[in-house]
Amino acid sequence: MSTKPNENPRPRIPVLLYHRVDTEADRRWRPFCVSPENFAAQMRWLAEQGFSAIHLSQLLDYYRCGLPVPPKPFVITFDDGYFCNYSQAFPILRRHGFVATVFLIHNFVRRDAAAPREGRETFMAWPEILEMQEAGWEFHSHGLDHRRMTALSREELEREIGESKHHLAAKLGRPVEFFCYPWSKFNQSVQAVVRSFGYRGACGGPPFEAGRPVDDFAIGRTEILWGDSLRHFVFKIQRGLSYYYYAKKQLGKFKRRLLLSD
Ligand SMILES: [Zn+2]
Repeated sequence: MSTKPNENPRPRIPVLLYHRVDTEADRRWRPFCVSPENFAAQMRWLAEQGFSAIHLSQLLDYYRCGLPVPPKPFVITFDDGYFCNYSQAFPILRRHGFVATVFLIHNFVRRDAAAPREGRETFMAWPEILEMQEAGWEFHSHGLDHRRMTALSREELEREIGESKHHLAAKLGRPVEFFCYPWSKFNQSVQAVVRSFGYRGACGGPPFEAGRPVDDFAIGRTEILWGDSLRHFVFKIQRGLSYYYYAKKQLGKFKRRLLLSD
């Protein structure tokens, strides 16, 4: 399959990025957390507006081959595989018939579901993951140990990218087709290794604009944060960017236009 950016741009499909859906007491972790109340309100809004949650493979089929997607498609992704994805997000999404993708850090997944699950360091266990998979969720790779890909040797990259794919696929009983660069850190060498292991695509980078090409190995996502009001969430769905980055981008365009008209 060609890995060049799509030459026939199609309308933008929002790809949302979440980490935790939880009541987070530790302020340092709040940026990576959305409260269950806000998350439920966001999903309710999407359902009321007639949005349909699709998977990343459907998104690429649509961009690459023009395969049909349901009306108002969007993608939900969660990074790292926290337990609250199961305890909080899973029941909320099920209420609306939505499915999501979780990027798992292979070595962080707990073996069994018996241990207490308090604190921010708790991750899902295999029985929970398999239950969600049964309900239509997908699980792909976020590496073995959540390392910064751009700082690794070729050998380490191959281990993180190749072994995580292999081990996760064996445990899930399904192919692992997508990679997600930890901290969104990647470059062309990292992308080349991801391609060489037969992944279909990878998530990383800022959300692309409507009408602009999409790169299968740098699928941009819109991160939803703790402080986002429902109105801000709706803006992010419509524009891809937060108020701040959208305004910054518009200002940049305006400045360029001024310079050109001189
Ligand atoms: Zn991560």
